[in-house]
Amino acid sequence: MKNEQVIEVNDVTKSYGKVQAVQGISLSVEKGEVYGVIGPKGAGKSTLLEMLMGVRKADSGSISVLGLDVDQEEETLKHKIGIQLQATSLFDRVKVKEALKQFHSYYNKTRSLDEIIGLCSLQPYLNKYVRKLSGGLQQRTALAIALVNDPEVIFLDEPTAGLEPQARAELWDIVQLMKEEGKTILISTHDMEEVQTHCDRVAVVVEGKLFASGTPDELIAQLPGGDGTMEDVYLQMAVFQNGVSA
Ligand code: ADP
Repeated sequence: MKNEQVIEVNDVTKSYGKVQAVQGISLSVEKGEVYGVIGPKGAGKSTLLEMLMGVRKADSGSISVLGLDVDQEEETLKHKIGIQLQATSLFDRVKVKEALKQFHSYYNKTRSLDEIIGLCSLQPYLNKYVRKLSGGLQQRTALAIALVNDPEVIFLDEPTAGLEPQARAELWDIVQLMKEEGKTILISTHDMEEVQTHCDRVAVVVEGKLFASGTPDELIAQLPGGDGTMEDVYLQMAVFQNGVSA
């Protein structure tokens, strides 16, 4: 039986003036996958993710998430997806519990706040200001907020950037729990060890194009000699090819 496709991207492009940020990417993501998006800085990962979230409009091509067209059915989709916002200015002046309550109030279908607080181990920090928390706790708060509407698809744009190993591990634990619940997770990261350990499949984006995609093992098998790590895949595909033959 064919697995359920939750995200389908078909020949999507996006330019900012003369910068062709995304140049004809097609990919699909199955229900329950942890799908990684990797590539050098400026490759177009955030632009791609933002188009999938419905935050940015593609110039051409089509994107459907949960069978809904992201442009035409944006309002419906908003209630079904979770977006990890960067924990900066948006909830700077509020406490963790206030931020959670506020976002909780935006949705009709929600998950219990107590459950989310438990999942993200935020109990000790509920009365602390978000901006006073460590980077790891801010990211956990942002992830908790992304879960308030009990989303079927969760988008995480570099959630572990700048975090120390313990905080990274805690964040991936939550991602793993979400996967076990059957959620689909799209995540961009620069940490190849994380990709190798946690991602079911990976898209390598280079200069706005899909350079390669597959499971970490499949990508590693494409390396000369057929072995190595995702770090080697990244170096070979994303960096050395960049500007040479990609
Ligand atoms: P990544 O997430 O892989 O670092 P981005 O999607 O942020 O890549 O950027 C892709 C390209 O588009 C880069 O050249 C970047 O400078 C450019 N870019 C991104 N956002 C904008 C914007 N709002 N306006 C103009 N150029 C942008």
